[in-house]
Amino acid sequence: MQYKILIVEDETDISRLLTKILEAAGYKTKQAFSGTEAKLLLEREIPDLILLDLMLPGMSGEELLYEIREEQYCNIPVLVLSAKSSLNDKVALLKAGADDYITKPFEPEEVIARVQASLRRIGKTFSKKDVLSYKNLKLYPESRKVTINDKELILTTYEYEILYLFMQAPQKVYSRENIYELVWKGGYYGENNTVNVHVSNLRKKMKEADSAEEYIQTVYGIGFKLK
Ligand code: CA
Repeated sequence: MQYKILIVEDETDISRLLTKILEAAGYKTKQAFSGTEAKLLLEREIPDLILLDLMLPGMSGEELLYEIREEQYCNIPVLVLSAKSSLNDKVALLKAGADDYITKPFEPEEVIARVQASLRRIGKTFSKKDVLSYKNLKLYPESRKVTINDKELILTTYEYEILYLFMQAPQKVYSRENIYELVWKGGYYGENNTVNVHVSNLRKKMKEADSAEEYIQTVYGIGFKLK
């Protein structure tokens, strides 16, 4: 299967470079040169992954990311391309629903590695057929769907993977390092806040969907488990 990647980047040189790198690695690409154009393309065709530049004319990358996460195609992995490199920006991006980020200037190998890692994350669960349940939660690995009280819970790729990990072993306590290794495959645990941010987003969404229940417990000094 050939994956389709939407490149949202207004600088033609960078867009062309990314196209070249990705096509050489066997991916199909589509280009959008503004946030508005990307939105139009997304209404017609859903890609497998989006590479999103933040500094775009008109609608910014952040705004587009927000809209993507609000829509039906919210579960597509989004890798943000950004020249910004301070930790605050990165945490804000992960909070906004980005799955990963690539700092400009980038190396072709890094782009491919991150794209592959994200696609592996969504691909690896397709073959599993068992529905997992916990309290009012149900998780359908085959369709990557999660429901609370039979209402669908919209999660980002990482939120889903973290929840999937927890639901496979409800009694197990996972350290942040554990979670990072298992969910962000191939990465190293450099950013202490990454796991916390995603777990806290996940908690928030579950709380909104089911305010009467608690699902994730913080185990002091260790990490997290299902409650
Ligand atoms: Ca730009």
